Amino acid sequence: MLLVSLSCAHAWVVPRIDTAPDPITAVPALAIEPLAGDVWLHRSWFRLPSGPFPSNGLLVCRPGAGLLVDTAWTLADTRLLLAEAARKGCPVTALIVTHFHDDRLAGLSLLLESGARTWARADTPGLAKLPDWKPQRLPDDGVVEGVEVFFPGHAHAPDNVAVLVPEASVLFGSCMVRDAGDRTPGNLSDANLTTWPESARRLVARFSAPRIVVPGHGDPGGKELLTHTLELVSPK
Ligand SMILES: [Zn+2]
Repeated sequence: MLLVSLSCAHAWVVPRIDTAPDPITAVPALAIEPLAGDVWLHRSWFRLPSGPFPSNGLLVCRPGAGLLVDTAWTLADTRLLLAEAARKGCPVTALIVTHFHDDRLAGLSLLLESGARTWARADTPGLAKLPDWKPQRLPDDGVVEGVEVFFPGHAHAPDNVAVLVPEASVLFGSCMVRDAGDRTPGNLSDANLTTWPESARRLVARFSAPRIVVPGHGDPGGKELLTHTLELVSPK
């Protein structure tokens, strides 16, 4: 039901105006799709050696004060995303970064230029090799910018956090939550498969009944994505 309603939703594809697309190798345009209440999914694409690959983040569109949970995967798409948020009446005033990888913070410099508040774990700037970035520090478990932030322990990355937008019951699990179609835990370059099962169990225990769960890549679903991920990372 959920996926049907999402696919019928009025997806908002931002026209790409910077370059003429090559019809064979074109990377799809940034899309901003409604999830629930004031929460929108932003989906951007990056060209990996295997081809274009999508990545998710959230825009919480509060009047006059937009909150981004992760930037788009490129600077250009983040620029478009910020412009569209402003046009919707929620210029972005704050960013939460859910871990140090490029698909989470490729557009960070635009937020720093605009004077937006940025939030991350204490170890994220070092891991991202951005020593001059001094974000406000995310708690292990607490509320910042009106959303709940939780660090369950090392899973996909040492600094991975999940974010719940409580009024809409949308949980953004980032890359430590896998899409329903995934049969692997994904990119393991910074993952810890020894601690991930316990971290995944803590995530399930902390967020018992989110209405919508958004993975770092792929399609949103319900809370079954949390148990699906736990199964993927559990020793066979
Ligand atoms: Zn990642």
